[in-house]
Amino acid sequence: MKKAAALLLLIALIFCFAACAPTEKTAYGFAMGSDYCVTYTSSDDLDGAISTILSSIEKKYSLQVASSLAVAINQAAAGESISLDAENYAVFSRVFSIAQISNYAFDPSILPLVKAWGFDPPYNMNGKVPPVAAVIANAMAASSCEDFTLNASSITKLRDSACLDLGGALKGYAAERVAKLMGEKGVDQALVYIGGTIAAVGKNYLIGVTPPRKSKESYALSFTLAKGEICATSGDYERYYEYENVRYHHIIDGKTGAPASSGVISATVISQDGLLADALATAAVVLGVDQALALFDECGVKGILITSDKKVIAQGVSVAVKDKSYEIRTA
Ligand code: AMP
Ligand code: MG
Repeated sequence: MKKAAALLLLIALIFCFAACAPTEKTAYGFAMGSDYCVTYTSSDDLDGAISTILSSIEKKYSLQVASSLAVAINQAAAGESISLDAENYAVFSRVFSIAQISNYAFDPSILPLVKAWGFDPPYNMNGKVPPVAAVIANAMAASSCEDFTLNASSITKLRDSACLDLGGALKGYAAERVAKLMGEKGVDQALVYIGGTIAAVGKNYLIGVTPPRKSKESYALSFTLAKGEICATSGDYERYYEYENVRYHHIIDGKTGAPASSGVISATVISQDGLLADALATAAVVLGVDQALALFDECGVKGILITSDKKVIAQGVSVAVKDKSYEIRTA
């Protein structure tokens, strides 16, 4: 009898151990206008927690959510204070300080230009026509970072027309928040992918960089993303349209009012700070090789640039070129 009870206990323990053992799981979904995929090893199902965090970020900062804080700021009149909590304040402070350090190559107030060129939501590129010079000039004059006063509890615009678009940094922020969630939930290993922005949790991962002008199935080069790091890639191939045989893409140079034409067509930035990596990747496409490398240095990040003439310039990270039509140039 005693033997039978001991056997039953043993079987129950084995079942319990099997049920509690960490297994690899994958959460898929759509957020920030992109697909996300988080592969994590845990005994808990964290899919719901991941989706909750991503939708909470969208509800605050997305231009596609009519009730978001970002939309409220954009619709506010000059002088009207919009209340912020500590998390909102931290995000806006980081965004404005990166704008400043990048000399506004990363410009979160660029929305009127983004709209003038047709790159605002819902991101349908069919039948788009580039704007005429007067429309560009109006859009350039409509909004700047100096039009916002920020303090710990509120943000206020100085002009009605000033508005914000955090789209250039949001996926990096989202990746950083999901990576943090993994840590809080005791996940040992995870790979967080949010629309091309990737966080490595607990382990190094080999990452492939898409060739800017080819299919997403192949890789131009690869590098190792160390545990704790986040990488973000921006490129002129991610969203664009063609009009009369000219290509117009979605990363706008606020100084010229037109899509960036710096010669950098793909920029990958690696940092432990996801929002910074994402914002600097956008800035690098605007700045071009020399200024981008100087900015990476100043901000203490690593980076990989690909130019329109297929040169690869890596700073602080080793890359392996997979597609031999690309040539490494030392920084
Ligand atoms: P990303 O894919 O991170 O480079 O972000 C590109 C998005 O950021 C665009 O679709 C615009 O919404 C916005 N954007 C475009 N140009 C800039 C810029 N110079 N600075 C900040 N955001 C920008
Ligand atoms: Mg970006």
